[in-house]
Amino acid sequence: MRVVSLSSSLLALLIAVLVTMLVARLQRGFIELHDATEQYIVCVNTAREMQDGSNYLTEQARLFTLWGDIEYLDNYFTEENETRRVDLSAEKLQKCSGESDSFAYITTAFQLSRALTKVEYRAMRLMVEAMGVDPAEWPQELLDTVLSEEEAALSKSEKVEAAQHLLRSRTYQEKRDGIAASITAYRNTMAAVTRDRQTKAAGRLSASLWQLGVYSVLLVVSIFASWALVYLLIVKPIARGIGYVRRGELVPVRGAMEVRELASVYNEMFEENQEKQRIIRREAERDALTELLNRRCFERTLGAYKQAGEPFALVIVDIDTFKTINDTMGHSVGDAVIKRVASALGGAFRGGDHICRIGGDEFTVIVSDITKADADVICRKMAAINERLSVPEDGVPTVSLSSGVAFANNKKAAERIFENADEALYRVKKTGRNGCAVY
Ligand code: GH3
Ligand code: MG
Repeated sequence: MRVVSLSSSLLALLIAVLVTMLVARLQRGFIELHDATEQYIVCVNTAREMQDGSNYLTEQARLFTLWGDIEYLDNYFTEENETRRVDLSAEKLQKCSGESDSFAYITTAFQLSRALTKVEYRAMRLMVEAMGVDPAEWPQELLDTVLSEEEAALSKSEKVEAAQHLLRSRTYQEKRDGIAASITAYRNTMAAVTRDRQTKAAGRLSASLWQLGVYSVLLVVSIFASWALVYLLIVKPIARGIGYVRRGELVPVRGAMEVRELASVYNEMFEENQEKQRIIRREAERDALTELLNRRCFERTLGAYKQAGEPFALVIVDIDTFKTINDTMGHSVGDAVIKRVASALGGAFRGGDHICRIGGDEFTVIVSDITKADADVICRKMAAINERLSVPEDGVPTVSLSSGVAFANNKKAAERIFENADEALYRVKKTGRNGCAVY
């Protein structure tokens, strides 16, 4: 499970790094897309500015030659020297178009515009001469403009006509159309270039988004797989194990290595505990010297027989003059005698009878399923035991037993069965020991 959790953490980390890189790429893609659009808008607007500037110059020059109003001349040179839309737009377009081929169209438009300016200067020079404007008030450009000899020799009205003709001539109009065509071509080229950049950037964005989708699915799958592993290898075995623990059974060793180890350790502890409980129960029920049932267990068993109301008999057995054996031969010989008596009793009675040691040299036997009619059966068994004990065996001295028997014929007799059997025993002791009496 440690390997599984480590590898799932590493996988999640790897996917997180990939997602971060992808998000950065997506951001770059969006910026690229935005820049391409922004650049297109700036270039197209600037090209329009250039066209507008050129149109304005033509318009002012034409109006001046038509109306002879000096205000149009001022407007012309304000545009030409201060506003400078054509020059500034050309500079700006060079910057925003970069090295692209589209700038060639702007160069053409710019050159045509300059050529138009020369024609316009000549037309306006003809006009200022025709109007008799003081040369001191002429703009420097008009002073620098040189007329041909024919033009200089024209009359005032002919100069006005010549000026108007210059600005309506075919060559002039062709140059103007050339400017418009160049700017339109520039805009179309820029649109195509921008569309191409947008298509590429959108393609990259779409690929990145698709990858992001794949990583998200991977992340969800890895989370689900981790959850399933944790459930199958940890949660399920532990939940099942709890049931076994509650029922007091061994836990099946299943699931993740750690869970299996836990189950094994629990099972070892469970078995140790069971063994200890068995020993404790045995020690609580049995007499340590003879392994027979002890007094406490005897009392409980006798109580149960009394309650059940079935016929049974109780035999109380006491070793005769046992103190003498202890006193003359020692305590250990006395113990050996006790053990021999226990073994003799065990050999004589049936497996279903309960043989107990209730005191030092005192034993009882609860004989089940018997009536007083079979009293002599018990006495014969006791006589046989005394017969056997009258012969020394393995260094254990001879000994005799006195026993008193009572029967549970009815409820009252059952209640007093111990006292009755003890009374019968007392009679045997009184009348010379080594015998059996029935109450
Ligand atoms: P009686 O015939 O009247 O029964 O005489 P008794 O000598 O047997 O007298 P009693 O039954 O009163 O004596 C029981 C003796 O058993 C007293 C005690 O010292 C001895 N005894 C009690 N428990 C043990 C034991 O576990 N081992 C040994 N060796 N002796 C025990
Ligand atoms: Mg005794």
